[in-house]
Amino acid sequence: MSERRPAEFHPETIAAAYGVASDTAFGAVAPPLYLSSTYEFAGFEEPRTYDYGRVGNPTRDLLAEAIAKLEGGAGAVVTPSGMAALDLLIGRLAVGSLVLAPHDCYGGTMRLLNARAQLGQIRRALVDQSDMEAFEAQLRDHPALVLIETPSNPLLRVVDIAMLSARARNAGARVVVDNTFLSPARQQPLSLGADYVLHSTTKFLNGHSDVIAGAVIAAEAQEVKALKQWANVTGAIAAPFDCWLTLRGLRTLFARMAAQERNAMLIAERLRIHPAVARVHYPGLVDHPDHVLACRQQSGFGAMMSFELVGDVPAVKRFVRAVRGFTLAESLGGVESLVAHPATMTHADMGPEARANAGICDGLLRLSVGLEHIDDLVAGLEAGLQAAEG
Ligand SMILES: *Cc1c(COP(=O)(O)O)cnc(C)c1O
Repeated sequence: MSERRPAEFHPETIAAAYGVASDTAFGAVAPPLYLSSTYEFAGFEEPRTYDYGRVGNPTRDLLAEAIAKLEGGAGAVVTPSGMAALDLLIGRLAVGSLVLAPHDCYGGTMRLLNARAQLGQIRRALVDQSDMEAFEAQLRDHPALVLIETPSNPLLRVVDIAMLSARARNAGARVVVDNTFLSPARQQPLSLGADYVLHSTTKFLNGHSDVIAGAVIAAEAQEVKALKQWANVTGAIAAPFDCWLTLRGLRTLFARMAAQERNAMLIAERLRIHPAVARVHYPGLVDHPDHVLACRQQSGFGAMMSFELVGDVPAVKRFVRAVRGFTLAESLGGVESLVAHPATMTHADMGPEARANAGICDGLLRLSVGLEHIDDLVAGLEAGLQAAEG
C-alpha cells in the first residue's frame, strides 16, 4: 500500500476511492484487511513500516488518512469509540485543566467530563455557547480545551464555529468540534479555525449501524504525532476489522448524506404543520432560529432532527407504540431510520435538572432519518402522530 492518492481530489472522490487499487501484493482493488497483530522485522534492528499493531496498522492508518483528508486535517487517530476519542484529547491535558463544554452537549460527553472532574483530573464548566457574554466570562477562567458541538444533540442548535474558535484561541484555549451530526460532507470545522475535530464514526461516517468507533483529527502535524503517541501509550486504538468496515461505509458517505438529508427536509416540513407537533428543531427550516448561520457554516442541513409532541410523556408513549418505519433505538446516522426519546434514553444520565436547563423536555423525540422511501417514512410517522393525538 505504498502509492496513495494525492490530496487534490474532491472530497467525494476521497470518500469513494482513497486507497483503492493501492495493494502492491496482488493488485486488490478493495484495500485489504490486515488483522495481524505483529510484523516481521526485515532483519536485526530493521523494523519495517509496521512492527506492532497497537503502534500502527495499515487498515487503521488508511481509514485515518481518508478521514483526515475529508476534514482537511494533518492526520487522524481512529479510536475504539467516540467517547475514547474525546478521552484521548482529555487524557493529554495537565491535571486540573479546565474543559469548557456546551450545556446541552451529548449525554455521554457530559458523563465523561463529569467523571473525569469527579476524580479531580480535570475541571469542567458548562455554558450556553450561543450566549456570547456567558462564553466570554468562562474564557476568563482560561480553559485549556473548549468543546463545541454543532448542531447540538438533540436540539439541533447551531453555534458559530469561526467566532467561538477565534475567541477561545485568543484566550489561549484549544478548540475541538464534535462533527458527528453533520460529518465532513456537510461541515469542516478545521477550515473555520478549530484545532481538532472529533467524531463518533459509529454514526454517519460508518453509516451502517454495525461498528462502534471514533476519531480525532488534528489541524497540525505535531498534534497528530502527539495524539498517535498517546493512543499507543493508552491503547485507545480501533480494531482493524472495525476500521475496514468503517472505510467501506465511508465510500458512500456523500450519497447517503444527500439522500437522507432530502428525506429529512421533507419530514421536517410535514412535522411542522402537524397538529400533534408543538415544535420542530431542524436547521433546514427557514424559521429555525439558527437557519441563517447554518446556511453560512454548513453545506447542507443533515439528516438529524427533533420535535416536541403536544401532550408530553403520554403522547410519547402512544407515538412510539404506533410509529412504523422508525425503530426505537439510540444512535444515529445509519441507513435505517431511528427514533429516540432523549429524556429516557440518550440523555437520561444527565438528570432532570440539567435536561431542563438544556431545554430538553419530556415530550421531545429525536429522529435519525434514513434511506427508506419518503412515502413509507411519512406514512409510518403519520401513524405515530395520529396515535399521539389520542
Ligand atoms: C454517539 C455520539 C458520541 C459518542 O460516540 P460513541 O461512538 O458512541 O462512543 C459523541 N458525540 C456525539 C454527538 C454522538 O452522537
